[in-house]
Amino acid sequence: MNGMSASFLSMLVCFSILSSGIPLAAMAQQANNLSLDALTEGKNINGFRSETLYLNDADKAFGARFRHQRTGFTLDFLELQSVPQALMWVNSFPTSDRGEPHTQEHLLLGKGNTGRAHSSLEDMSLAGSTAFTMQWRTVYQLHTAAGPEVFYKLFESQTDSLLHPDYTDEEIRREVSHWGINENPADKSLRLEEKGTVYQEMVSSYERPVSLLFRVASQMIYGPAHPLALSAGGWPASIREMKAEHIRRFHADNYRLGNMGMVASFPKEMPLAGVLSRLDQILDQLEPKQETRRFASEADLTAPKPAAVGEIRLVEYPHQKAATRRRTPKIKCRSHLM
Ligand SMILES: [Zn+2]
Repeated sequence: MNGMSASFLSMLVCFSILSSGIPLAAMAQQANNLSLDALTEGKNINGFRSETLYLNDADKAFGARFRHQRTGFTLDFLELQSVPQALMWVNSFPTSDRGEPHTQEHLLLGKGNTGRAHSSLEDMSLAGSTAFTMQWRTVYQLHTAAGPEVFYKLFESQTDSLLHPDYTDEEIRREVSHWGINENPADKSLRLEEKGTVYQEMVSSYERPVSLLFRVASQMIYGPAHPLALSAGGWPASIREMKAEHIRRFHADNYRLGNMGMVASFPKEMPLAGVLSRLDQILDQLEPKQETRRFASEADLTAPKPAAVGEIRLVEYPHQKAATRRRTPKIKCRSHLM
């Protein structure tokens, strides 16, 4: 009886392993695929609501757009067999020619204790990142080869840096524009020079004929005060007028989760439901206060006021070698005049 029982039990266990093994493997695969394949518009999953599906060339879902229900953060989830990576964006229509969007990009992930802590974390996390400012969005890219947990840690740290900067007014001033003293190594004479990473970078940008042509063309298409014609990078003469309160106001008006989103891709080892659950926890924790305001979108832009039909403007550009060339500092952003 005992023998039979043991034998029966071992058969039962074997049968159990065999019978449950196949369905479990199938279920695991199905669960990963099911998450996307079974997804429909308007489905609530782990704090997010699905809005649309992205299909590949075989009409199979490989991604979806979600909206974080509490904060309004937009998530474009893609399943790609690579390291986890994210392209985070913020709607950042320029409000002046001072270059608030671009300056904000320079400050957030490198200045203040929060920015420096994130920068150090990236250095220790097999991470790669970059950032750039476009005409109506600012973009921060991030990836890591150190696995899912490190990705979540970096995402949390980066989003925290974007939402809760603690840079000082002096750091803003030094990054934007200020006067400094330079020594001539030949004769040790001193001279005053305009400094500031953003200022120097934009002076260099507007030495290119195409940048000046693009600026005037945008003004003729939209009108000089239109958000799509203002300099997102900063017009040098206007950059000098930037004050700390301008950049702090710009941050308060734009850097909220409801005005932000990301396109993120994850390997199959990071299935949809788990990713949504982790991101939900992080977003809730970083912006616990319920945001009630509505953020401006392209639909809210004022109507363009184009130049008269047939109008021609000549654009001058520097075409002689300047006596003293400025050195463009090596910085972390790539495009400011798109
Ligand atoms: Zn820059």
